[in-house]
Amino acid sequence: MADLGILSNTLKVLEKYNFNFQKKFGQNFLIDTHILEGIIDGAEIGPDDCVLEIGPGIGTMTQYLCERARFVICVEIDKNLIPVLNDTLSPYDNKIIINQDVLKVDINALCEEYNGGKPIKVVANLPYYITTPIIMGLFESHVPLDSITVMVQKEVADRMQEGPGSKDYGALSLAVQYYAEPRVILNVSANCFIPKPNVDSAVIKLTLHKENPVSVNNEALMFTLIRASFNQRRKTLVNGITNAGINGIGKEQVVRALEKMELSPTVRGETLSLAQFALLSDYLG
Ligand code: SAM
Repeated sequence: MADLGILSNTLKVLEKYNFNFQKKFGQNFLIDTHILEGIIDGAEIGPDDCVLEIGPGIGTMTQYLCERARFVICVEIDKNLIPVLNDTLSPYDNKIIINQDVLKVDINALCEEYNGGKPIKVVANLPYYITTPIIMGLFESHVPLDSITVMVQKEVADRMQEGPGSKDYGALSLAVQYYAEPRVILNVSANCFIPKPNVDSAVIKLTLHKENPVSVNNEALMFTLIRASFNQRRKTLVNGITNAGINGIGKEQVVRALEKMELSPTVRGETLSLAQFALLSDYLG
């Protein structure tokens, strides 16, 4: 099969199947061989790896993955793409194509079945409308993961990497950094896709921590507090948390916890580090 990273080959496939792009599925297919190679290199895919590809599209990146990995699990929501994938990926027998919504599929069960429960690598040019639920879902369901290397909107990649004090720092930064070490490996122009999206993109690699960087008694409570603190960005942390009505936690209690941490009662969530949120959660738990 011809390399689908080359525009003319992709156009031939689209024409053969009379394919209509579905905006609701965030369909922007890659048409740049250098970017494709950069993603696979950055993800460090080798012959022992089992890879989960979310949204293979017409199989462009899947071709590259099947060449390098031991096995590739592809989950694609659009049923119109299944016959296309069966055709474009026919030279490879080290893959399975699953026609499902990735948010509904049991990824732990897939890991067990195809990789004996050992950590997998996720590689994807993500549908941007569900970037955060996909990434958080992978983390929170404790799928055995080695790394997640994904194309996302550039500003989302920025948010994942930011620390306290930056305007882009928020609940996503803290969640990503709790589970993984984020590193942008490529910036990608809109010209590398068909159709051309109206945002810039970046490939970010999230390498899972071997051990959590902070210890916290109740992970779920910490993330509830984090979300409440950033929900109303212009409010103080005390108001954000008390307005959310979490386990009956009252204003006094939050102010006292902040005092113990030597923080002002008017502090905003965006100035607290992950370690400080963990401590706050332990005081309020
Ligand atoms: N991997 C291809 C490429 O790089 O050219 C296509 C990437 S395109 C940005 C996103 C893909 O995700 C599309 O094929 C789309 O149909 C698929 N998709 C969208 N929502 C999905 C979902 N909930 N579950 C699985 N796949 C989904």
